[in-house]
Formats: sequence, C-alpha cells, structure tokens
Amino acid sequence: MKKIIYVFTIFAIILSVGCSIIEPNNDLNTFQPNRIGSIEPTVTTTVPEETHTPPTAQPSPEPTKPPPTMPPSRGMVALTFDDGPSPYTDKILDLLEQYDGRATFFVVGNRLDSYRDTLIRAVNLGNEIANHSQTHVRLTSLSDNEVVSEIQSASAAIESITGISLPIYRPPFGITDERIVNISTELGYGIVKWTLDPLDWRDRDADIIYYRIMSQVEDGSVILLHDIHQTTAQAMERVIPSLIEQDFQLVTVSELLNHRNGGLEAGSIYGSYCAWKIWD
Ligand SMILES: [Zn+2]
Repeated sequence: MKKIIYVFTIFAIILSVGCSIIEPNNDLNTFQPNRIGSIEPTVTTTVPEETHTPPTAQPSPEPTKPPPTMPPSRGMVALTFDDGPSPYTDKILDLLEQYDGRATFFVVGNRLDSYRDTLIRAVNLGNEIANHSQTHVRLTSLSDNEVVSEIQSASAAIESITGISLPIYRPPFGITDERIVNISTELGYGIVKWTLDPLDWRDRDADIIYYRIMSQVEDGSVILLHDIHQTTAQAMERVIPSLIEQDFQLVTVSELLNHRNGGLEAGSIYGSYCAWKIWD
C-alpha cells in the first residue's frame, strides 16, 4: 500500500511539474499578439539609432497639449499671421485668449530671439508656430543648399525656444516652384498658403481689413495676415469677436487640416498662391 501511495505521489508531482512547464507555452500560443507586442520595443532599441535618423532635421509634429474639442458642425477658420513676431503680436494673443480662439504664426527665424516670451506664451495658449524661413528672402533666387539652410535654421530657432518644430512651411511672399517644393518634400514639410488675402500688408486700414475678411470668410478659410502691422492688430479687435459671433471656431492650420483634409502631407501644398481680389 505504501508503495502504491509513493508511486501515486511521484506521478502527481510529475503531472504538476509538467503542467507548470506546459502552461507558459499555452499562454504564449493563446496570447501571442500581446507577447509579441511586449517584446517588440526591446527588439527595436537594439537597432542602431543612426538608421532611424534622416539625413536632414525632422520637425516633431507632436502638439504641446491635446487639441480642444471642436464640433465638426461648426465652421472653422484659420487665422494666420506672417513675418513676426513683433510688438503687436501680444495684443493679438490677448484677443485670442479673451475669445478662446487659436491661430498659426508663421514666424521669421532671425526675429525670434527678441520675442522668446511671446512665442512661449503663444504656444501655451494653444497657438501654433510655423516656419516662414530664416531671413524672409525669395527662395527661388537661392541655391539648393541655401534653401535648405533657410528652412532648417528657422526650424531650429523655433524649436530652441518652444521645444516644438512643426513640419509646416509657408514660403516668403508665397513664392514657390517645383524645386522649392521638392526640397520641402525631402525635408518633410508640407506647404501652407492661404485662401483669403485681405491685403493688410498693402492697405493699413483696420476697417478695410475687417470688411474684406467678414465679406469673404467661409468655413475652411485660411486667412493671410501680418502681425507686424499695428492696423492688423487693430482690425483683430473687431474681426475675432465677429467671427466668434458668427459661430466660427478659430483654429490652427494643423487643426483645420486634420479635421477637413486628413492632415498635411510632406510635399503637398494647401491653399492658393494668390487669392487676391480686385477691390473698390
Ligand atoms: Zn512673409
């Protein structure tokens, strides 16, 4: 009898150990996708970092904070301000903050050092800082290397202050050609122009700017403005509350393109080069 109990006990132990060996294998088979998912990051870290680093700077598309809720049924307008920052930029930020709106600032790289606080404030309020070249020169008159430098220097200047550099680029004067588009594509940028130009750079009159915007604005408008002009900042005192009153959401270019166009891909061009209208 003792022998039988002994054999039974040995058998039970073998069975138990056997199960404990088999179980992980069963888990592995049953939950393979999860296990593969948990293993993968370890594998990727062993790949040399250089193989993931492109030859040119890749701006990070990461936003600093999650975009606010944007009901798709409400119209969206992207106010864009070029050539700054300037002493008038903070006034525009005040208005955007007051009316819970956001905008995109296409800044010039060599102006940024004097406006570090303004840029950081703009980003913290949910606005977007995008690339408008380093020195605001006509890119079509530059060599390939100079074009690359204009774009990358501005990108580096923006990132050094805000910690973010978006792959969104607007060429100075909106002038571009196939070569500039190809270079922008290689660097990972999409080009954003505009759909509504109230000519604020030419006609320094807040009432005229207000009228031109309010008479043409529609869902999806990308409005070209320049925050280096006092009259533009003055016009915003009426334009921003009026757009809100008409139930438009004031969004960044990225937000508009993400909601209306599925985003902006490298090499694509959004908006028209010249949306001027004959006025008067
Ligand atoms: Zn410009």
